Amino acid sequence: MAVDSEADAEIRVPDLVEPVVGWRVWLVVDRVGEVRLRSVVYPTLWEPRVETLAECVHLKRHPPRSWRVGFSNHSAPSSRCDCGIYAARELADGVHYLRASDAPGADVLGRVFGRVSLWGSVVESERGWRGSHAYPEHLYVPRGRTTNGRDTDDIALALTAYGVSVEILDCATREEVVRALGGGSNGDRAPEPPLAE
Ligand SMILES: [Zn+2]
Repeated sequence: MAVDSEADAEIRVPDLVEPVVGWRVWLVVDRVGEVRLRSVVYPTLWEPRVETLAECVHLKRHPPRSWRVGFSNHSAPSSRCDCGIYAARELADGVHYLRASDAPGADVLGRVFGRVSLWGSVVESERGWRGSHAYPEHLYVPRGRTTNGRDTDDIALALTAYGVSVEILDCATREEVVRALGGGSNGDRAPEPPLAE
C-alpha cells in the first residue's frame, strides 16, 4: 500500500447529490420509552428526522500514531479504513444481521431492516457502499423478530416517527424475507461473511 499521510489524498467518490440506496438491518431499542433505531455492531443511535453521520470508531479506539499511517486522521468513510455507514447492494447481504437473536432483558426490542439512503462522501465496494450521511428510506418490521413483550404493530407504529414508509412483513427469517421481497435465489446460497456495520 502506498504510504501517504495526507487524508485529503484518499480516493473518494465525489460528494453525491443523489443518494445511493441500499439495504441494512437495525436494532430497535427502547430509549427512555421512545422507540429508536440503532446500528447493530456499533452503538450508533439513529434519531428520527435527523441524518446520521458516520465517524471512525477505529480512531476512537486507537488514536492516530505516526507509525500507523493507514489510521491517520480522516473523516469517515475512508477508502483505506472500514468506517462509514454501511448499505448492501443486494437484499440477501443487507439482511444478514436478521439472523442473530438478541439477549432478553436489554433495551433491545428487536430487529428491523430496510432501505437506507447514503449521501455525502460514499465509498463503493463490491457488495455495497459506506457513506458519511445516512437516513432510512423504507422500514420493514418482520413479524416475530420483536422481543421484550413489544407487539410488532406497536413497534411499526412507533417507527413512523421517522417519517418514512413502515411495513410489517409476515416473515421472521432472512430466507423468508429474501423470498418475500423477491431478492432472487440468494436465499438458497451458502452463507457469506457479513458486511461490517
Ligand atoms: Zn476510519
